[in-house]
Amino acid sequence: MEDFAFLGPAGWLTGADALPYQRDWLNRYGVAPVGVARPASTGEVAEVIARARDMGLAVVPQGGNTGLCGAAVAEGRALILSLNRMAAMGEIDPDGGTVEVEAGLVLGDLHARLEGSGLVFPLHLGAEGSARIGGLIATNAGGSQAFRHGTMADLVLGLEVVLADGTIWDGRRAVQKDNAGYALRRLFAGSEGTLGIITRAVLRLAPEPRQEATALLALPDAGALVAFGRHLRATAGEFLAAMEFFSDQGLDWTLKHLALDWPLESRAPVYLLVSLSTTSAQVSLDQIFAEVLEAGMGQGLVTDGAVAASLAQRSAFWRLREEQPEGQRLEGAQVKHDISVPVARIPAFLAKGADLCAAHQPGIRINPFGHLGDGNIHYNISPPEGAEFGPDIGNLSLQLGALAQEMGGSFAAEHGLGRSKVSLADHLRSPVERRLMAKVKAALDPDGLLNPGVILGNRKE
Ligand SMILES: Cc1cc2nc3c(=O)[nH]c(=O)nc-3n(C[C@H](O)[C@H](O)[C@H](O)COP(=O)(O)OP(=O)(O)OC[C@H]3O[C@@H](n4cnc5c(N)ncnc54)[C@H](O)[C@@H]3O)c2cc1C
Repeated sequence: MEDFAFLGPAGWLTGADALPYQRDWLNRYGVAPVGVARPASTGEVAEVIARARDMGLAVVPQGGNTGLCGAAVAEGRALILSLNRMAAMGEIDPDGGTVEVEAGLVLGDLHARLEGSGLVFPLHLGAEGSARIGGLIATNAGGSQAFRHGTMADLVLGLEVVLADGTIWDGRRAVQKDNAGYALRRLFAGSEGTLGIITRAVLRLAPEPRQEATALLALPDAGALVAFGRHLRATAGEFLAAMEFFSDQGLDWTLKHLALDWPLESRAPVYLLVSLSTTSAQVSLDQIFAEVLEAGMGQGLVTDGAVAASLAQRSAFWRLREEQPEGQRLEGAQVKHDISVPVARIPAFLAKGADLCAAHQPGIRINPFGHLGDGNIHYNISPPEGAEFGPDIGNLSLQLGALAQEMGGSFAAEHGLGRSKVSLADHLRSPVERRLMAKVKAALDPDGLLNPGVILGNRKE
């Protein structure tokens, strides 16, 4: 395609060079794109969009390609627009606590470049070595600190976006208060590449903590998990940086497949990883942990626990939580669910979810893990030992999604809908919501140029 030769040899890839961009992270989606455009500036992005539009060619934006819903790869005739050559970071504003970055900057690189500045970007997730700012915004990523600092939408103050008609919207404002009409920047957070191409963002930073402490705890059940979480918020709320839980089933798989060490003396049905942090040098986080753990054990909410004594031990504790997806992947087939419920309903969801699984296919193995602070449960299931899932497993996913929704939660918490959850959404999303979303899409991308099939599917209204 000569139309994109203006990007130069590093900016337009075809054939074998395009292969690394073709399949999604879980290797379930993606056909060969007509090519991969790798523009080096916002102007070039706008030119790519204008030319694709003239040719009637669909455009699929791609960041780090770590999304879990099959939304960053081509399905049908399309070009992939990779932002990975736009990875610059601007000056840090130490007074306002902001920084402007290009959309292709890798999250882990942002963390590294902020080192020594006294500021941090408070978004952390397992894929931070690959996920890029544009993709993180376009999925409204959450992660382990979302309950404290918000999701990506809360961390973006301003945006620059190339729209479907090729025009550039420059909304790069570096202030928190900006109510000059509709909050357009929020519209693009979670839009999964269907409304515009995010090219730059002004991000909100947080002061770098001077102290951090991490504890790994064993708990008797999900009720104790919620009760202890409430206790933590009440007694250590302003220091809480993460409250991550996982199950004994998930622990079994990580120990079996990843040869990790188990640092506690006993095992339990549920585990909680708690991180505290503070910018103060006066406060003793160890003292706070000692007090909350004593209270938790006194009330029977915690049965065993340890506070990390070194950086290495802290990383080892975190690995036990972060390797939950990998442990289950190595065990074999699985179906992932990314749901959220109000925190108080976590125990009820887990109990009813287990009933639904048992009724659907006895012996299904359940590996719930996730973020206690915001009720986000990665409710991932594997078939019974030595067996396969039955043919109607999609029906179980529908029942679990409906259960989360009945409880006041969501069937799609932090990963988005992409392509993989469109049919679930068609069953569970209200007609009013679907209609509103279709109108937004029609207003911003009337010809369906950007990431067709994602979020709304291919169904015509
Ligand atoms: C091991 C692992 C752990 C994870 N943990 C978490 C977690 O804790 N929390 C969480 O929220 N997610 C998590 N994820 C999911 C994933 O990392 C996030 O969804 C992330 O935000 C995707 O970023 P990306 O750059 O890889 O985007 P991609 O996968 O490349 O793209 C995702 C979506 O964004 C669109 N997009 C990409 N760039 C742009 C752009 N510049 N403009 C417009 N649209 C764009 C794509 O078209 C696609 O729809 C995890 C994934 C893995 C593999």
